[in-house]
Amino acid sequence: MYESYWRKLGDRCSMVISGNDLMSYFSNPGNLCWFLMPELDHAIRRLHGVVRNAIADDDRFIVVGTGSTQLFHALLYALSSPNEPEPISVVAAAPFYSSYPEETEFLRSGLYKWAGDAYSFNKDGPYIEVVTSPNNPDGAIRGAVVNRKGGKLIHDLAYYWPQYTPITGRANYDVMLFTFSKATGHAGSRIGWVIVKDKEIATKMVKFIELNSIGVSKESQLRAAKILGVISDDCLNSGPNKEENFFEYGQHLMSERWEKLREVVKRNGVFSLPKYSPDYCNFSGEYTDHNPAYAWLKSKEGLNSDNLLREHKIVTRGGTKFGVGSKYTRISMLSSDDEFNLLLERLSAIKVTTNGNY
Ligand code: PMP
Repeated sequence: MYESYWRKLGDRCSMVISGNDLMSYFSNPGNLCWFLMPELDHAIRRLHGVVRNAIADDDRFIVVGTGSTQLFHALLYALSSPNEPEPISVVAAAPFYSSYPEETEFLRSGLYKWAGDAYSFNKDGPYIEVVTSPNNPDGAIRGAVVNRKGGKLIHDLAYYWPQYTPITGRANYDVMLFTFSKATGHAGSRIGWVIVKDKEIATKMVKFIELNSIGVSKESQLRAAKILGVISDDCLNSGPNKEENFFEYGQHLMSERWEKLREVVKRNGVFSLPKYSPDYCNFSGEYTDHNPAYAWLKSKEGLNSDNLLREHKIVTRGGTKFGVGSKYTRISMLSSDDEFNLLLERLSAIKVTTNGNY
């Protein structure tokens, strides 16, 4: 969805890599995260400073990953212990991002196991809770739910950027996950990062990534550094030739899409959408709306929403994958313009007939 923005910037984000560049495994041998390129380290800390969405001061460790997906696996390893008598429980409040259970269960690890919805978790002992805010799939702003002794928290802040939500404060959690894919739309570069307070956790994550992929592509890291740097430059530029910066562009685009979607959903009367109230955004200096990356639709009649939409050639991800009922389903708001327009067109065509069928 952000492709036309990046096209408009022309050569400003281009870079040349020669055949003899970037050949070593090592990026910064003196650093705890020895495969993190200093340029990316700098660009990440600078951007968080500019957006004011998270504290990324020099006393915090940054570990880069092949997407935040690799970092999630690394975190499960780093937050668990081989000395525990049984695998540590991993929970998240439903509806939760559908990949958490899959990723947690995939290797049948003896270190950790998926234990489902945090709201119904009542086992004693250590646990890991994943807190996603804004949440995928429903856009909710969230805090930890279990709040018990022995709990370790992973804050997945993939969507804590101004185009999706008002920036209400600098996040300052022990473990904060971010991803290039949601921040700027460059999902294909596969760059994610984690900001960690604890040195031991950072060290264990680095070990995991060393054994998993001996580091992270330097080409991708440099490209990410370049793009994040251009965003920061533009946000800080307040001169007379100031153009809309990336987050302003994204925010306008997302709120335009949400307005159109709400209109269509209201008109056909089949579904409802969550309601959000505006908040003061420290980044833009005004009250802004929540414009989540996904629309969390609920069938008013309690029907299977995913099936209903599929019959109208709209492919969604049904509620059961997110730990709730099938009357819910998730639609991505991040598609290309053409796809999004087609979505609106097909949604508009769903009509309730007199006998209650669609
Ligand atoms: N966390 C959340 C909440 C997500 O929605 C996603 C992508 N859908 C990811 C993590 C993974 O992102 P990536 O691996 O592209 O960094």
